[in-house]
Amino acid sequence: MADENEFEYDFESRIVSSSFSEAEDSESEPGLRPRTLEEYVGQCKAKENLRVYIDAARQRGEVLDHVLLYGPPGLGKTTLAAIIAHEMGVNIRVTSGPAIEKSGDLVALLTNLGENDILFIDEIHRLPKTVEEILYPAMEDYVVDLIIGKGPAARSIPLTLSKFTLIGATTRAGQISTPLRDRFGVVLKLELYTVEELTDIVRRSAGILGIPIDEYGAKEIAARSRGTPRIANRLLKRVRDFAQVKGNGKINREIADYALTRLEIDRLGLDNVDRRMLEVIVRFYDGGPVGLETLAATVGEEAVTIEDVYEPYLMQIGFLSRTPRGRCVTRLAYEHLGLPYREHTVSGVQLDIFSEKNGEE
Ligand code: ADP
Repeated sequence: MADENEFEYDFESRIVSSSFSEAEDSESEPGLRPRTLEEYVGQCKAKENLRVYIDAARQRGEVLDHVLLYGPPGLGKTTLAAIIAHEMGVNIRVTSGPAIEKSGDLVALLTNLGENDILFIDEIHRLPKTVEEILYPAMEDYVVDLIIGKGPAARSIPLTLSKFTLIGATTRAGQISTPLRDRFGVVLKLELYTVEELTDIVRRSAGILGIPIDEYGAKEIAARSRGTPRIANRLLKRVRDFAQVKGNGKINREIADYALTRLEIDRLGLDNVDRRMLEVIVRFYDGGPVGLETLAATVGEEAVTIEDVYEPYLMQIGFLSRTPRGRCVTRLAYEHLGLPYREHTVSGVQLDIFSEKNGEE
């Protein structure tokens, strides 16, 4: 059994964490967030569809249908919501599921919206159930039932709202209740970005921040950003520090490699938390399968964090596979970690997890 403390980790301070930190608000990142669909790099499918829905709604002079955005943290959901508001030429109010504690909070937000305005609710899956139920008639018929008084004397007064668009963001669509999900006319999944797309994002951000960088330096940072723009921007700023102090201020491949190696981020963007998680599966569970809850307990991390933050990238690069029996480390990961690969035996059945993942012998 692993020593739990060995794996305790301050997740917020993790440099490749895709979660948002207060220091990275718009003030410290002047203009880094793209403002138009044209500036928004990648996500071509979602972008093309959105373009059509926005143009159609504008031509009809109607409110845009409600939009649900889902995908891992740091992929640009909040950015996209602001872009939609900009392209529609309407106001946006930004809030999050955990911030709305009482029904009254949501009613106040809804009644203050102007015609065609956007309400953006981040982490919408964390809305309390009673609050969520207010959204159903609000989304469908633009009305809320205002409850006046208490007990038997309580009366319900329907209140008509301005027509508005709700944009909800969540890390996984599966976490949202069916009645809520069904009320979104547009559901868009954001994918992890390719190295080429992230290279564009790094070059764009470097341009805005006035950081000299060459093509190879941008690519090196992009390749180590776990498919996530927020991480790419964060790594760019850290590499800039090394380039300034240890180099001549310009970012090239060598200084990017030097800085990221010093930060213990390997060539594929894995940090020591990822490596330890993979090693735990290999060392304690023979490469898997291991159940999510067991894995979470062993590495001292919450199951949802493992699912939302660690796994998408590890699965994308083919290091981890999800099977009905649990998580398995693949041959590629063994090779990357420099560990001898052993074929897996589950209940006497030979299981080559690498070929299983690819659906081939
Ligand atoms: P999420 O809401 O999904 O957690 P954000 O919208 O806050 O992610 O994006 C995180 C950061 O990444 C933003 O500050 C923005 O600068 C950058 N970013 C996200 N998506 C893109 C994109 N498609 N093109 C350029 N930069 C992006």
